[in-house]
Amino acid sequence: MEGKQFAPIKGVLNKLSIRDLNIKGKRVFIRVDFNVPLDKDLNITDDTRIRSALPTINYAIDEGAKIILASHLGRPKGTEDKRYSLASVARRLQRLVKKEVTFLDNCIGPEVEEAVNKMSEGDIVLLENLRFHKGEESNDEEFGRALARLADCFVNDAFGAAHRAHGSITGIAKHLPSAAGFLLQKEIEYLQGVINRPVRPFVAILGGAKVSGKIGVIKNLQDKVDKVIVGGGMAYTFLKALGHPVGESMVENEMLDLANEIRSHALSKGIKFYIPVDCVVAQNMEPGAEAKVVTAQEIPDGWKGLDIGPASARLFSEALSNAKTILWNGPMGVFEVDAFSRGTFAIARAVADAYALTIVGGGDTALAVSRAGVSESMSFISTGGGASLELLEGKALPGIEALTDKK
Ligand code: AMP
Repeated sequence: MEGKQFAPIKGVLNKLSIRDLNIKGKRVFIRVDFNVPLDKDLNITDDTRIRSALPTINYAIDEGAKIILASHLGRPKGTEDKRYSLASVARRLQRLVKKEVTFLDNCIGPEVEEAVNKMSEGDIVLLENLRFHKGEESNDEEFGRALARLADCFVNDAFGAAHRAHGSITGIAKHLPSAAGFLLQKEIEYLQGVINRPVRPFVAILGGAKVSGKIGVIKNLQDKVDKVIVGGGMAYTFLKALGHPVGESMVENEMLDLANEIRSHALSKGIKFYIPVDCVVAQNMEPGAEAKVVTAQEIPDGWKGLDIGPASARLFSEALSNAKTILWNGPMGVFEVDAFSRGTFAIARAVADAYALTIVGGGDTALAVSRAGVSESMSFISTGGGASLELLEGKALPGIEALTDKK
């Protein structure tokens, strides 16, 4: 998803783009991420992921390709569990592209091969859930080859799955000319661009549950940013490491030394390091639980910090006010519960108001930004949770490595 434009970031992807392939009249296998949330009646509750793939799909339609789409949905664990069928996704896609989408009830095999061989230019086929076959996740050699038999070239537009070495991500790419779709390209350009050439001051806001989940990101960013803001559950490990009582707050005791090292390292480099100065605490996180604001130095026994307090929200917002680049990954509190959502929403508004390139890491933070009603004000919201984290950790993603190098 892309909203306000601030500063252009130059792409750093040295792989073929879908534009580099001549796809007219060709069978193009496009790996998309249609892993959409479903309610208990299997209705799609949010079709952002389908919409995010539309630029690539529409381009392939305009170019006269024969379009074969494939995705995973949920975790059927290699069995044909119809609760995870992509049939409803095919119907939604058909409405979005305003064109017939043929749904096939398998993703490999002679019948699928026969169906794709009969396709005409501009036709669209959606294959059944790739994870109905064990070979997808185990990256079985034959499964990758069976997928490759369906197509003349491969396009990966599934950024959310690009950190997985699965059959439809890396296996198929061994056998076909392989290129990045527009969504994948945009994700790499923004996320890698922000790390490699941020316009300064560059502020990273890190939150979420645990330090251990973000440690790779902190390490990769710590020499690149001008300011670090830490909120969420991970802040309590930093507070405890400073000797403050944290009551029953989430703490990773094995990370205490590391927390101090990270903070000292930042300070020695002249990087400003912000942790909460006050917190919203409660004895449990139930919606009706009694909650109160206390300073970060005096969390009472038996209480746990579940959100940053109003003074922290002001402090953090001020720290953002002169930023030119902001990267945000992880909520400031348990934003899913109203009583503990204010800190996260205040930061969402501050990020939205900043005159800066604003990049939001996927997953929970994207959901929080959407609930705060400010998605449209962000420069870029990543569609990938795990994949965006790995990229921000500086790791090479298998799905990108597998694509054909640009000459
Ligand atoms: P992550 O996937 O690491 O970004 O974590 C996101 C989750 O962290 C959200 O579901 C939040 O509810 C949770 N979270 C944020 N702050 C806290 C906190 N203070 N205590 C417990 N969980 C938290």
